Amino acid sequence: MALRFFDTATRSVRDFVPLQEGKAGIYLCGATVQAPPHVGHIRSGVAFDVIRRWLLAKGFDVTFVRNVTDIDDKILARGVDQGIPYWDVAMRNERAFTAAYDVLGCLPPTYEPRATGHVPEMVALMQRLIDAGHGYAAQGDVYFDVRSFPEYGALSGQRLDDMKDAADADPRGKRDARDFAMWKSAKPGEPAWDTPWGSGRPGWHIECSAMAAKYLGETFDIHGGGLDLVFPHHENEIAQSKAAGGGFAQYWLHNAWVTTSGEKMSKSLGNSLLVEQVVQRVRPVELRYYLAGAHYRSMLEYSDEHVAEAGQGYRRIEGFLQRGAELLGISGSPEVESGSRPSAFDIAMDDDIAVPQALAVIHETVREGNAALASSDAEAVRSSFASVLAMVDVMGLNPWSEPWRGGTSDDRHEEVIDALVQVVLQQRQEARARKDFAAADAIRDGLDAIGITVEDTASGVRWTLG
Ligand SMILES: [Zn+2]
Repeated sequence: MALRFFDTATRSVRDFVPLQEGKAGIYLCGATVQAPPHVGHIRSGVAFDVIRRWLLAKGFDVTFVRNVTDIDDKILARGVDQGIPYWDVAMRNERAFTAAYDVLGCLPPTYEPRATGHVPEMVALMQRLIDAGHGYAAQGDVYFDVRSFPEYGALSGQRLDDMKDAADADPRGKRDARDFAMWKSAKPGEPAWDTPWGSGRPGWHIECSAMAAKYLGETFDIHGGGLDLVFPHHENEIAQSKAAGGGFAQYWLHNAWVTTSGEKMSKSLGNSLLVEQVVQRVRPVELRYYLAGAHYRSMLEYSDEHVAEAGQGYRRIEGFLQRGAELLGISGSPEVESGSRPSAFDIAMDDDIAVPQALAVIHETVREGNAALASSDAEAVRSSFASVLAMVDVMGLNPWSEPWRGGTSDDRHEEVIDALVQVVLQQRQEARARKDFAAADAIRDGLDAIGITVEDTASGVRWTLG
């Protein structure tokens, strides 16, 4: 079966046909770096990392561009509030985003352009739009004339006549209240760049149109972003880029939100949901498993309990892989054999990245593998092990791959926990040896109460968490 994506622009699932055989260009709208990321901000990075990894697994040469919006009203306002330059706010938060992507195992983008580094490209694009009759300058602002572009509204399925006014700029020079600003004239004390229309700074939408064209060409394969960007941001990107003559994105993919109590997660929930805070409470690999585990187009309701449940699911997979590696005598990182992926997994991933179905295949294979372990069927263990490893590798969840393996504080914590449990189990053995079964059972029950399951196996006592 061919790889297919749900394309927001056509509201249909379409076979993925790249512009150039074997290559895929993806532009993902990145962060506006006004604050450090909470869990909701980082979902699109994780969702598109899985999509990218699947394209890589299928042999595509992927160019992945994710921009940084490092100038905007909120960044400027924070700079003023804190008495520091806007770029200090932007840089600090860009680092926090990079740290969050890294800690969750997202591959670094091929290119990560910053808006402020691409003003000449934006000015050139606006000049083309003005020359072609799609844009106009008024009192130092530059607007896009939405009536000049008949397709306007197609992505979000709106008719121009039903649209609200664009509230993105002072409407003083607008010909139509729905025209949107590509460029905003300088205000006192704000950073500004010189242009033929006066000095000012870019609007958000022109940044992405200019940067996507620079790094992927005027026509490219996939544009991604959160569902909340469909309108006005992506609608406006399309208007600018297509009116300038490019074909722009051939497929539009949008990830759903992380919600809390059914609402889009917001900053008002406080710091406890910042990625840097959550990874203090949850192993990062388990947070990735949680964020990647839902279909990218499904809303994901956040709670610590849901993350904990996801963590148990991941630990089942990891536990099998660890026991399998032990039985198979594998030391160090086992080699990933991509040919070992079950076809049901590939079919699920090809079907608009159906991760829940793909995970079901992983868990089914883990069950088979655990049965093989229980009956000490080394050949069957080897086969399940290779399959599970190849599948989790595609999801960015291979426990032996970066950044999960070795040297992290989690691993040290695990070592310490293992040592503590061994001490307790030793006490239990001693209790049994002196036939004090009440004490032995009490120890076992105590461990059970904190989620540690003790098994007596032929090769000794084994414990598992979860
Ligand atoms: Zn964008």
